Amino acid sequence: MTTMQNVDQRNWVGKLTTAERLGRYRAASAAGIIPYFRAAGSLLGPVVEMEGRDRLMLGSPNYLGLASHPEVIAGAKAAVDTYGTSLTGSRILNGTTVLHEQFEEELADWLQVESALVFTTGYQTNIGTISALVGPGDTVVSDSYAHASMLDGAGLSRAKLRGFRHNRMDLFEDSMERASRDGGRILVILDGLYSMEGDLPPLDEMLPICEKYGAAVMLDEAHSIGVLGERGTGAAELFGVEDKIDIRMGAMSKALAGVGGFIAGSKDLTDYLRVHARAFVFTTVGVPAAIGASLAAVRVRRTPEGQELAARLQRNARYFRDELTGLGLRLGPDGETLERTSPIIPVHIGDDTLAMRWWRELYDRGVFTGVALHPGVPLDGAILRISPMALHERGQLDQALEVFAEVQKVMSV
Ligand code: PMP
Repeated sequence: MTTMQNVDQRNWVGKLTTAERLGRYRAASAAGIIPYFRAAGSLLGPVVEMEGRDRLMLGSPNYLGLASHPEVIAGAKAAVDTYGTSLTGSRILNGTTVLHEQFEEELADWLQVESALVFTTGYQTNIGTISALVGPGDTVVSDSYAHASMLDGAGLSRAKLRGFRHNRMDLFEDSMERASRDGGRILVILDGLYSMEGDLPPLDEMLPICEKYGAAVMLDEAHSIGVLGERGTGAAELFGVEDKIDIRMGAMSKALAGVGGFIAGSKDLTDYLRVHARAFVFTTVGVPAAIGASLAAVRVRRTPEGQELAARLQRNARYFRDELTGLGLRLGPDGETLERTSPIIPVHIGDDTLAMRWWRELYDRGVFTGVALHPGVPLDGAILRISPMALHERGQLDQALEVFAEVQKVMSV
């Protein structure tokens, strides 16, 4: 009997061909409305060439536009010239360079913490850190919209997971009360800026509750690093609560124009992770170009030019949000002050297929947006995820708004 027959008997092939999500993906692909895996053929700027024509890029977390900044490109190139294309090993073995040490020192200085530790990706940072810090007997309390990588870290840790509905303070307090009765350590995991809904956690209300129950707090600043706060170090800075967050996590893959993740906090924390986080120890470090790019991006962000880029991002996001609101589209919540304007604007569509049809109509008219479908968002909670960049000119935003108005008409007939 061949191996394949054995596999067939166990119905593995059946699983592959009957999986419901795969069926929906294939049907949407056949209908030409699938928004995913659309290949770009040019530099990631405010306009990107995709599938034979230019599209206004409103679906990328390149918030400050640094992925195409000359100094950031030069930083990546210099790293390749000095260290080559790959380090071929884990940080703990042959994968640490002087560049890593420099980057970690600059991150720690920027975030005003004792120490920072760089991982290969943001995803690995979260699963490695959470699974190293808590285990069976402990409890993780999580906002239901916390990023998948944090939830996966909680799953891997085998700690008890207690979720509460997004930003619902009454339910949060209830979860904390229950967690305190579980008997172990409590770790609260939150995003600094929620990646789909684009809103912030009310840290000023949440942190006293964390303190009351003796919980440690981990804040994922993947989308807020470089974007929020006067110095640009994220939501903890914006709320003025840096000293109350035990574990600050950031990704280099968005505003910082590279790829990778980091943990910032006490030296005890980063030293502990150096030898306990399996997703740090047992994987190859990111390519030198990624570290060189993100180091240059941090340096640009800390100059007056970086301040201006962050201010332009806020202005663009505010303008686009206000204009879309004027069209009568249903948008997600927003912070109240200009300072807190989120660079992420969710347009709530509801039905998955309808959201994909919206996406296709926009795409055909030269506008690329992100799309979040179930299970990335709750059932019937499909959204178009829009994020203007600092580099978009007002004329480009107006052009995109005209397209939105046109598609709105098409979709309502
Ligand atoms: N946290 C959040 C909030 C994210 O949005 C992402 C990526 N989309 C990650 C973590 C993972 O980071 P990376 O893409 O660098 O693995």
